[in-house]
Amino acid sequence: DTYLNPNYSFDNFIEGDCNRLARSAGFAVAQRPGLTSFNPLMMYGGVGLGKTHLVQAIGNYIMNHFQNKLVLYVSSEKFTNQFINSIKNNTLQDFTDFYMKVDVLAIDDVQFLSGKEKTQDTFFHIFNHLHQLGKQIIMTSDRPPRELQGLQDRLLSRFKWGLTADLQAPDFETRIAIIQKKIQSEGILIDYDVIEYIAHSVNSNVRELEGVIVSLMAQASLTRREIDVELAKNTLRNIVMNESKEVTIDTIQEVIADYFQVTIADLKSKSRKKEIVYPRQIAMFLAKEYTDLPLKSIGYHFGGRDHSTVIHSIQSINLLMDETPDVDETLQKLRSYFK
Ligand code: ADP
Ligand code: MG
Repeated sequence: DTYLNPNYSFDNFIEGDCNRLARSAGFAVAQRPGLTSFNPLMMYGGVGLGKTHLVQAIGNYIMNHFQNKLVLYVSSEKFTNQFINSIKNNTLQDFTDFYMKVDVLAIDDVQFLSGKEKTQDTFFHIFNHLHQLGKQIIMTSDRPPRELQGLQDRLLSRFKWGLTADLQAPDFETRIAIIQKKIQSEGILIDYDVIEYIAHSVNSNVRELEGVIVSLMAQASLTRREIDVELAKNTLRNIVMNESKEVTIDTIQEVIADYFQVTIADLKSKSRKKEIVYPRQIAMFLAKEYTDLPLKSIGYHFGGRDHSTVIHSIQSINLLMDETPDVDETLQKLRSYFK
């Protein structure tokens, strides 16, 4: 693709700890293309973490704010194909002229150029030409430059001239915000407990997160059901659960209930019986250890307790561990279920 998709903007890109540097650098470049020290700007990260979104957001921003600037977005695959065709058709000069006259070149997924020597040679010349003229170059890659095997050293060294910023898997808060933004843009309402459930269960990448919401909406309309946690569970079971190795609070509660021969309802109940309180405290302790849920949400999953109860439970287990060796042993055994 050589066209910018206007749907990708900074406005609908959720900022979080996972992407803050890349987003700010991208925004700086968008506001002053070619004039910052972030040239080239290289953004890298795994699949579905927002590289294409961000690079297109930069392109769109520049298009909208600098009418006289020629912005070109191209995937490395497309670039390679165009290059090969230009060789076949004897139009290499047109090809390079075309790229050398842009003001902003955004080239996506440069890992694709790996091993393609001739394409890299040409890209090298285009890069040098543009950079010398102070034109902005933005690149993305699925891995950091140092791990880009099959790319010429002279290219790699140039990639490091500017700024390299990574995109990481979204943290819990960012996942919540992304889901909220997504359902808002679809014009639907979903209870917060469903949002939290999804954010907790899908933690790999944003594309998958979006896929789950789309499936969930499809499920709801097909079955004429309301979107609730139950439906979310069903949807997730079908599309994600099998691949996901993450320990969820549900898994923890299941394992604990099973181990101590109590029910999950007991764990969530108000019961102060010793046979229930201890497993409940252990469960909260492990929930803190294994999930990135805030204490408030952990309490929520245990019958709507507040965060101070969770803190108290964790402290109780810590104290018990010092007093009774059994507790440590129990914890070790339980942890083995989560491996
Ligand atoms: P990549 O190019 O890294 O594989 P994409 O940019 O294609 O990932 O992102 C996958 C999907 O997730 C897109 O629909 C994109 O809009 C969305 N997305 C990714 N990161 C964010 C974010 N921080 N805020 C909002 N949407 C995001
Ligand atoms: Mg992409």
